[in-house]
Amino acid sequence: MTQTLEVQDPVTELEQFKMFIDGESVDALSGRTFESENPFSGTNWSVAPDGGPEDVDAAVRAARSALEGPWGQLTGFDRAKLLRRLGDLVADNAERLARLEVQDSGKLYREMIGQLQYLPQWYYYFSGLADKIEGRSIPTDKPNFLVYTKREPVGVVAAITPWNSPLLLLTFKLAVGLAAGCTFVIKPSEHSPASTLAMGDLIREAGFPPGVVNIVTGVDRKVGEHLASHPGVDKVAFTGSTATGAAVAQAAASNINRVTLELGGKSPQVVFEDADLEAAANGLIAGVFAATGQTCMAGSRLIVHESVHDELIRLVTERANAIRMGDPNQPDTEMGPVANRPQYEKVLGYLEKANQEGATVACGGVGDDALGGLFIKPTVLTDVTPDMTVVREEVFGPVLSAYTFKDEEEALRLANDTPFGLAGAVWTKDIHRGHRMADKIRAGTIWINAYRVVSPYAPFGGFGSSGLGRENGLEAINEYTEVKTVWVELSGATRDPFKLG
Ligand code: NAD
Repeated sequence: MTQTLEVQDPVTELEQFKMFIDGESVDALSGRTFESENPFSGTNWSVAPDGGPEDVDAAVRAARSALEGPWGQLTGFDRAKLLRRLGDLVADNAERLARLEVQDSGKLYREMIGQLQYLPQWYYYFSGLADKIEGRSIPTDKPNFLVYTKREPVGVVAAITPWNSPLLLLTFKLAVGLAAGCTFVIKPSEHSPASTLAMGDLIREAGFPPGVVNIVTGVDRKVGEHLASHPGVDKVAFTGSTATGAAVAQAAASNINRVTLELGGKSPQVVFEDADLEAAANGLIAGVFAATGQTCMAGSRLIVHESVHDELIRLVTERANAIRMGDPNQPDTEMGPVANRPQYEKVLGYLEKANQEGATVACGGVGDDALGGLFIKPTVLTDVTPDMTVVREEVFGPVLSAYTFKDEEEALRLANDTPFGLAGAVWTKDIHRGHRMADKIRAGTIWINAYRVVSPYAPFGGFGSSGLGRENGLEAINEYTEVKTVWVELSGATRDPFKLG
C-alpha cells in the first residue's frame, strides 16, 4: 500500500479493482484510489478504491436490506446450493486468485495455490450444514408448555481481515456465515486488497442476491474502525493483531455487538528427548519458516529438552540455511519476502532487540539485500530466556527462539508462560506424555508430532490474548446464529398474573 491518488490520474498499466456493493462493482464515492506494492519487485502493481465512511454506510445499508429481502426468505437448502456454486467458482479461479495474493503479499505461489485449491472445501463443508441448523425441543418443568429453540442468523456481519492469507481467513468467516443466513460487509487489509476484491465477481456469478456480500476497501485504518463500530452491524468477525483486536472488541461492545477475534500467537513447540528429531526439525521449519513466519499459528518458541538441544539446533539450522529464498512465483522457492515494509522493519527491530538482550544467532539474524525485495534470512536464536522480548512478543516473521527444559513440569510451565494461546505442538514418542501435555497446554489447537494443519472440520481459535470464539467446525455455526426460545401455552387456561410462571 502506498500513496492516495485521485481517480482521474491516468494509471493505465496497473491492474484495476473495484469495490462490490449491493451487487455492483463500484469506485469509492470520493473517486479516490490507492496503489498496492508487490513486496518482491518493490513496484506498485494494482489500484483499489480508497473508500471512506460513506462507502461503508452504503455497504451496511445493502447488507441490511438483503437480510430483510429475498436472502432472508431462502431456505438452508437454497443457501447450500449457492455455497456449493461459490466453492466451484473458487476452484475454477484458484490459480488467478493465488497469483493476486502472491503479487500483493509476496507469499509463495506454491503456498497460495495450495490454500486456494483447498478453500472450496470450506464452502462444501458449510453448504452441508446450511440446511441442518436446528433447534431443540426442551422438556421443561412446566408440563403445559411446549418449549423449543431455533437458531437464527446473527444478521449483518462485518468481516475485517489481515494481509497474510486474505482469502483463507475471509473464508473462515464467509462460508459459515452465509450457511447460517447472515449478510456481510468485508474489509480486507489495505496491504492486500486484490484477491478479496476479485471475489466480488465470483459472488455475483454464483447467484447470491445483491447486498448479501459487500466488499469495501480503504487505505485509512479508520475505514475498519467505522465498520467495526457501525450501528447497522450485528457482529464483527475480526482477524488481525491483538492490539487492533482489542480496539475492535471495544467498538463492538459499545453497540453490544457479537464479536469473534482471531488474533496473534506465540505458539510453543515442545520437543522431548525421545522425539523423532528429524520429524521435529521438519515441523519446526514448517511452523516458523513456511509463509516466512507470517502466520498467526507460527511455532515461534522452541522449548527443547536440554539433552537434545544441540542436535536439534544442528538439524534445524542446517535445513534453515538451505532454504531457497527468492521469487515467490517460482515453484522451487521455499521462502519469499516479508509482506510489506512496516512488517520488514518490525522484524529487523526484533532481531536488533534480541541481540541487545543477549540472544545468540545460530543462523540468519539479518536481512538479505542480495535478493532485492524485503527478505530476512531464516533465523534461529539460542541462549534466549523466557523474559526476552523476542520470546514474549509476536514477531510475525521467520524467527525461532530456542530455550531448554529439564523435565515435563518445567516444559509445561514454559509452554504456558505467555499471554497468547493460539496453538502449540508436542514432539514425543510417548503417547501418555503427548496426551498429558495436550491436556495442559492452554491453547486452542495442539498438534502431537505435527504442525500447521487446519481443516474446515476442526474448530480453530485462541485462548487468552489470542482471541475469542472459534472459526471452523460445527462450533462456528454457533458464532453466526442467535438462539431464540419459544414458549407455547398448551392448556388454554389463564394464570395468576402476579406469579412468575
Ligand atoms: P492489523 O490488526 O493491523 O489489521 C487487521 C485488519 O484490521 C486490517 O484490515 C486493518 O485495516 C483493520 N484495522 C486496523 N485498525 C482497525 C480498527 N481500529 N478497527 C477496525 N479495523 C481495523 O493486522 P495485520 O497487520 O493486517 O495482520 C497481522 C496480524 O494478524 C498478526 O498479529 C497476526 O498474528 C494476526 N493474525 C491472526 C490470525 C488468527 O487466525 N489468529 C491469522 C492471521 C493473522
